[in-house]
Amino acid sequence: MSELRFQRVLLKLSGEALAGKKNFGIDPETVSAFCREIAEVSRLGVQVALVIGGGNIFRGMAASAKGMDRAQGDYMGMLATVMNALAVQDGLEKEGVQTRVMSAISMQEVSEPYIRRRAIRHLEKGRVVICAAGTGNPYFTTDTAAALRAAELHTQAILKATKVDGVYDKDPMVHEDAQLFPRLSYIEVLNRRLGVMDSTAISLAMDNNLPIVVFNLFETGNIKKVVCGENIGTIVEG
Ligand code: UDP
Repeated sequence: MSELRFQRVLLKLSGEALAGKKNFGIDPETVSAFCREIAEVSRLGVQVALVIGGGNIFRGMAASAKGMDRAQGDYMGMLATVMNALAVQDGLEKEGVQTRVMSAISMQEVSEPYIRRRAIRHLEKGRVVICAAGTGNPYFTTDTAAALRAAELHTQAILKATKVDGVYDKDPMVHEDAQLFPRLSYIEVLNRRLGVMDSTAISLAMDNNLPIVVFNLFETGNIKKVVCGENIGTIVEG
């Protein structure tokens, strides 16, 4: 296992990624494709914890902008992440990977409660732990949940999968001359308001010395490249 750069990682997948070409919902083919990639690194012996977003189904902030109570909307957003988690569990199990969905909101018919020590035990046994329902608290995001779970599960890095190749000085979808940063410090990300993860998540990663690797999810083989130490995307560290 010496060729691995990371033995235990936290992979953050946004909900939108699961929607595929549609902007809403869950596209089973897209889920299968990601699950193949995740299964591949799990089979290499990497311990993988996943945090899944819910933005493909519901976002509390967007609903509150249209008059819904923010906390109520946020709980709905957290429930959306549980649906995504179950979809990814299905995809991973089809790949022959053992998984556990652990939810921050009790839902014992479909998931285990999130219990840190139990999550670590699952990881040690080679099971992919799918952390659902974010932090379990409104006014947070699944990015913050990713930083929190990474810290408490002692992962060596947060792998933040995105639609583009890494972090740029401006939006690469809009500006052709956008420059990719191979490396950034946490402070630079915060000061320049670069949209890597929200500021609560970045601060938590900074305080706990957790490197964040931002990379393109849509290029086959990228998760494996990151865990094997290939320098792709952007690394955010101290
Ligand atoms: N959410 C929350 N607390 C958390 C995590 C998520 O209230 O700890 C809610 C929030 O409404 C958020 C929604 O769940 O908008 C979906 O999560 P997020 O927007 O982070 O998903 P992503 O953008 O990664 O798909």
